[in-house]
Amino acid sequence: MTPPPVPFLDLERSQRDLYEEFDAAWRSITRSARYVGGPVVEAFEGAWAAEHGLDHAVGVANGTDALELVLRGLGIGPGDEVVVPANTFIATAEAVLAVGALPHFVDVDPDTLLVTASTVASGITDRTAAVIVVHLYGQAADMTAITALASRRGIAVVEDCAQAQGAQWDGRAVGTFGVAGCTSFYPGKNLGAFGDGGAVVTRDAALARAVRSFGDHGRSEIFKYEHPVVGRNSRLDALQAAVLLVKLPHLQAWNTHRRNAADQYSQRLGEEPGITLTRQAPASTSVHHLQVVRVDDRDRAQADLAAEGIGTAVHYPFPCHQQKGYAVMPRAGVLETEATSPRLLSLPMFPGIDREEVDRVCDVLIASVRGSSA
Ligand SMILES: *Cc1c(COP(=O)(O)O)cnc(C)c1O
Repeated sequence: MTPPPVPFLDLERSQRDLYEEFDAAWRSITRSARYVGGPVVEAFEGAWAAEHGLDHAVGVANGTDALELVLRGLGIGPGDEVVVPANTFIATAEAVLAVGALPHFVDVDPDTLLVTASTVASGITDRTAAVIVVHLYGQAADMTAITALASRRGIAVVEDCAQAQGAQWDGRAVGTFGVAGCTSFYPGKNLGAFGDGGAVVTRDAALARAVRSFGDHGRSEIFKYEHPVVGRNSRLDALQAAVLLVKLPHLQAWNTHRRNAADQYSQRLGEEPGITLTRQAPASTSVHHLQVVRVDDRDRAQADLAAEGIGTAVHYPFPCHQQKGYAVMPRAGVLETEATSPRLLSLPMFPGIDREEVDRVCDVLIASVRGSSA
């Protein structure tokens, strides 16, 4: 009998016990007639700020907007450059272009696949206004060294925490080191809504006000139809906030489940010749959004896993600076990113994945890698 398939991601498994709560929460919104903003959005914003030990959280329409509105709030625009990792989801760079600034792509560390103070420094020019640090795959980047560099060089630090909800650097939540922490509640994130959503956290009250105003048609706080700045529409729906309020109390347990699966992957694969795992700094507490390994014959490994019913993905097959619309953007020595991307493979990882499934993924991957080096 062939064993059951292992999905790359099963969003449904971890939330099976919560359907009654989702239904009740949605029913109350249906009847409240407060669909955009309102008390449920405010309650979630309060809970999300508290999760970070900060005073301000602003719900927005998605994670890309969270980044864009923060850059706008910082006054970043045409003529400015923003340092961005070449190894990230394209949205990080999109947000920079959306405000009229230029992303300046920098390389990542070969162990963590994250930016470091020295790779960030390589992309700083006299036009640099900020760096967007991406806590990719759930790991925390070195915020001690990067914030020290940024304050020396007089640039702002914005954190892209879309893949790192609950992650910590040196015991402190990511998103609390820079001027703002931006996140996405896209369904596949560690804390996902039933559609798009995003948020900004910050300790800077003026920045929080600016983000809220830009995302709400540039409204003044006093008069609904006075628009002192040119804004746009990027707000969090009450239905999404209601889902997030139900899910938030479970985030830590879900992240622990991911950590246990990651530990099992590293026990099985860590010493295996031909398979390289990311190696985190001791100060990083990862939330294992993705289980990324590197293998020489990635396409063969992916095909061998698929033949056994095991789902995988690649994050990301092309570095940002090689995407069509981004080919002319400045970059600084992105050699590690270029060498790594053809070898990247993301294995099944989600809360609810069981030990037999992880073992089966490891068995098939090890056989594939041993076979291709034989
Ligand atoms: C998902 C993601 C985003 C964008 O979030 P959206 O809600 O899809 O706009 C930004 N950065 C990173 C690293 C992401 O993974």
